[in-house]
Amino acid sequence: MDTKKEENSLILITKNLLIGLKTTLTTFFQKPVTFQYPRERLKLAERFRGVPKLNINKDNSLRCVACMLCQTVCPSEAIKIKLGYVDYGNKHELTERQKQNKSLEKLENNIYNDGRRHPESFEIDLLRCICCGYCEEICPEEAISMSDKFEFGFYTRDEGIFGIDKLIKL
Ligand code: SF4
Ligand code: SF4
Repeated sequence: MDTKKEENSLILITKNLLIGLKTTLTTFFQKPVTFQYPRERLKLAERFRGVPKLNINKDNSLRCVACMLCQTVCPSEAIKIKLGYVDYGNKHELTERQKQNKSLEKLENNIYNDGRRHPESFEIDLLRCICCGYCEEICPEEAISMSDKFEFGFYTRDEGIFGIDKLIKL
């Protein structure tokens, strides 16, 4: 190899090395863009959508009236509802829509007995759910809404199927 070429390649290597070192030194003193998950967590956006949860009334009764709309609209067929017609003398605070229903029997301030139907079982397969929010959008009773929970670990697929007891705690 001739000496001129050798000199040029040496200069090039040194130049690239210095550029690399400059990048290392400047980023060394900057705040890291990575974080130590799960000890450190990013602040979730206000409208972040985790998995859906079931909402309850002040008297701990389910808001859901088993209309099946969410099950029908769910694109990933993650929701399974079994309809129950049991009248359990449900007393609950009404949604705006329910307040407009004149056939309800008023017991006291904002407390009514509507003898409504309810889900005997309500399951969401979290492994199928794609957190699209369609179920929340379609629900006429504000009975299902998107939680901010998104971290789950399951050993079996069945563990990913959440029933009423787990869905109201999300
Ligand atoms: S968020 Fe979407 S995918 Fe998940 S249960 Fe609701 S409708 Fe189904
Ligand atoms: S959660 Fe809402 S949309 Fe789904 S069955 Fe219950 S009332 Fe209907």
